[in-house]
Amino acid sequence: MTLTSKEIDTVISEVAGEDVLELVKVLKGKRNISEFKLAQDAKQEINIIRNQLYRLYDSNLVSFTRKKDKQKGWYIYYWTFNDGRVKDLRTLLKKKRLVKLKERLDKEQKNQFFLCKNACSRLTFEQATDTYYKCPECASLLNQQDNLKTINHIQSEIEILEKEVRINQKN
Ligand SMILES: [Zn+2]
Repeated sequence: MTLTSKEIDTVISEVAGEDVLELVKVLKGKRNISEFKLAQDAKQEINIIRNQLYRLYDSNLVSFTRKKDKQKGWYIYYWTFNDGRVKDLRTLLKKKRLVKLKERLDKEQKNQFFLCKNACSRLTFEQATDTYYKCPECASLLNQQDNLKTINHIQSEIEILEKEVRINQKN
C-alpha cells in the first residue's frame, strides 16, 4: 500500500509540525545534502532549518552523516530523508488514536452525561450535581443526554482504525 502525498504530508505535519513540509520537499529523493545547501534551497535561515531538522530527527524521519571541514575545523552535517519511516509513523499515530478512543469509549459507557440546550456545556453526573443541574455558562437547566449515538460512533471509528492497523502490520 503506497501512501498518497497528502497522507504523507499529514503524518509529517502531525509529528514534526506543518512548517517542515517545505524542507521535506527539498530533501525528498536526494541523499546527504548539507544543511547549508538545504537552507539555500528552502530559502530559510540556517537556524530555522536546523530546528526543523531536529524535529524531523526526533521522529527518525531524517538521518545524517557528518564530515569535518578541514580548513574551518568544524563539522558539516549531511541529511537524508527516510521515506520508509512515514508508514511506520502513520501506524504509530493510529495506535495512539486507538488508545485515546478506547479511553473515550470507556468514559462514555461508564458515565451519564448532561447537556445544556444551548450546547455550551456537557457535564458528567458528578459535575452536574455540583452545579445543581444548571449550565455553568448560561444557567439553563441541563438535560440528561442519551449518548448511545456517540458510543456507536466511537465504536465504529475504533473498528475502522483497528482494521487499518492490522492491514498496515501485514504489509
Ligand atoms: Zn448553557
